[in-house]
Amino acid sequence: MKGLTNMMEETVLAKIEQLWPSTNYCKCDKCKIDVAAYALNRLPPRYVHSFAGKLIHRFDASTTQMDAEITACVYNAIIKIGEEPEHDVEVIEE
Ligand SMILES: [Zn+2]
Repeated sequence: MKGLTNMMEETVLAKIEQLWPSTNYCKCDKCKIDVAAYALNRLPPRYVHSFAGKLIHRFDASTTQMDAEITACVYNAIIKIGEEPEHDVEVIEE
């Protein structure tokens, strides 16, 4: 919706970027969207006015418990999608 931003979206995407490099799963755009959707469907949305800098700042500084919850959820999503990507996996022949 115009004028509204789901802060959770940006937070989850940043978290994917942070956690993904430590895994060997497929990192194509399709998987990235699947991981993001999987995590976002399991986390509460955090809508703010897109111009509300103060609110965004407050969200960034939110509790470490929330951060731990997001991290766990994104990590589960990475594993879930990584183990069963919703596209054909290319078999790399050696
Ligand atoms: Zn993929």
